[in-house]
Amino acid sequence: MHLDPFELHRPSTVDEVVRLAGDLAGRFDYLAGGTDLLPNYKMHLNLRPHLVALEDVEELRGHSLARFGAMARLSDLESDPAVAAAYPPLARAVREVATPLVRASGTLGGNLLVETRCFFFNQSFFWRSSLGFCLKADGDRCHVVPQKEKCYATFSGDLAPALMVLEAEVEVAGPNGRRRLPLPALYDLEGDGIRRTRLEPGELLVAVHLPEAVRARPGTYLKLRVRPSYDFPELGVAVSGEVVDGRVRSLRLAVGGADPYPRRFDALTDALVGESLSDDRVNALAQQVEKAVRPVHNTFLLPDYRRRMVSVYVRRAVAELREGTAA
Ligand SMILES: Cc1cc2nc3c(=O)[nH]c(=O)nc-3n(C[C@H](O)[C@H](O)[C@H](O)COP(=O)(O)OP(=O)(O)OC[C@H]3O[C@@H](n4cnc5c(N)ncnc54)[C@H](O)[C@@H]3O)c2cc1C
Ligand code: SF4
Repeated sequence: MHLDPFELHRPSTVDEVVRLAGDLAGRFDYLAGGTDLLPNYKMHLNLRPHLVALEDVEELRGHSLARFGAMARLSDLESDPAVAAAYPPLARAVREVATPLVRASGTLGGNLLVETRCFFFNQSFFWRSSLGFCLKADGDRCHVVPQKEKCYATFSGDLAPALMVLEAEVEVAGPNGRRRLPLPALYDLEGDGIRRTRLEPGELLVAVHLPEAVRARPGTYLKLRVRPSYDFPELGVAVSGEVVDGRVRSLRLAVGGADPYPRRFDALTDALVGESLSDDRVNALAQQVEKAVRPVHNTFLLPDYRRRMVSVYVRRAVAELREGTAA
């Protein structure tokens, strides 16, 4: 495996990035830490001739408790005790991403926009050519759900569900200026599964904003994976909320690693506000979330197992909240 040549651009302001994106329309990718993009390039997955590196853009760096730059390194978030104290689900999710080496280069923005994964996609060019390519790269059919013209590759980032339960908003910049949107709205739930977000052409992620109201709110992130030292999530369940005198004052729940996009289940959790978190209610919530997700056979673990683990993990995560053991 090798990297084909590409032209590297190193703008230093967001305006310059957006201008370049316009000039190179359709022929470039943004490069953050490169821990996801460059391995994919080595496997000849959707190569572009230009890379726009975000490394030198000062505005994208660093973090405070209110604003996290898209280029904030995962290792910087992991080692900040203020982040751990303020945002337990985020701190836990960051610790669970890949390995220390990957976290030293990987960024927040890259994690939220990580390419979706599939056993038939994350393979070498040689491997893929022997089977026949697929919709997501170079081909015209899906090997997982052949009867559909849609890609079902799995969203495998850890931070999105954790940030969703913290009511995160993302700030994006593009040819039409800047806008902010709730993190769940970043992901395209209705699309073809290949275009994974609702970003307009050329738009980049600038920062993630967290409201003060969720600071120190109890919560957790539970991750299912094959090798705990290394692997992408086969499932990730995040919760955050307040249970006062046994009754729910607020509750957010989000799931990643199961569908082509991460999802927050507001309708299900809003219905529990003011209620006591009885075993029956928690079981019903777990069953409803399990019913809503649709894992397919494109990762290591069988979809039926992953789906059944959804309710197990929802029950465990909510139990941590109810029993006050969530950080
Ligand atoms: C061995 C290994 C194990 C891994 N395990 C995990 C895991 O357990 N959990 C997990 O979540 N991830 C995992 N990853 C994936 C990846 O390392 C992380 O998700 C990382 O955070 C990606 O960040 P990055 O900065 O390297 O992204 P990059 O690779 O630079 O970019 C990823 C994608 O996002 C786009 N992009 C990046 N920043 C922006 C921006 N600001 N605006 C617009 N587009 C942008 C890029 O164009 C690219 O399409 C693993 C990777 C490896 C190599
Ligand atoms: S789900 Fe189908 S189209 Fe998508 S990457 Fe896998 S085989 Fe390709």
